[in-house]
Amino acid sequence: MGSQVTKKSKSSSKSHKTKPQIIKFETFDMPGPPPEPIILTSKNKAWADVIRNLVDLSVDKWVAEYHDPSIMDGSGWSLSICSKELNIQSSGMNAYPETFDAVQEVIERAAATAPPPTKPTYARKPRKCPNCGASPVASIMYGMPSLSHELMEKERRGEVVFGGCVIEMDGSQPSWKCTTCEMEFYKTT
Ligand SMILES: [Zn+2]
Repeated sequence: MGSQVTKKSKSSSKSHKTKPQIIKFETFDMPGPPPEPIILTSKNKAWADVIRNLVDLSVDKWVAEYHDPSIMDGSGWSLSICSKELNIQSSGMNAYPETFDAVQEVIERAAATAPPPTKPTYARKPRKCPNCGASPVASIMYGMPSLSHELMEKERRGEVVFGGCVIEMDGSQPSWKCTTCEMEFYKTT
């Protein structure tokens, strides 16, 4: 009777841009040195386990901000996760979600199994970050560039970052940097 339209479901939608999957976690003391974030990407061998553990620990229930207003300085932390399963941004000062310690342990354990960082060297700037897949990769500008409007725009877009005034001539400074996972890349000398 009624003609049924059978649609072939095409599930291959390759048009959307693949977002980098990344976990960034840092703890710091106030006052204290700047934090050194732990970065995990989907290239990490333990990635799937980490995500599963974090889902089990209900990280998706964490709120954006935890803080104890009665303490002015102290210890802070922040966590951001960008993945297919979890997408959160959370931070705190002197206050922690219930599962904080367990989550910290999961992330630190995975980071400890990651291969030691090498000095990634390329002949020219990679179009996409070889570590996390984000683009663009920023060129690091050394010295004191005069800050034009155009340059500020480029920084906002993640196309350039400023490396400070010290210029080493021995090629020991990275030429490019991914602003998503903060990995730095060196130019082949
Ligand atoms: Zn990256």
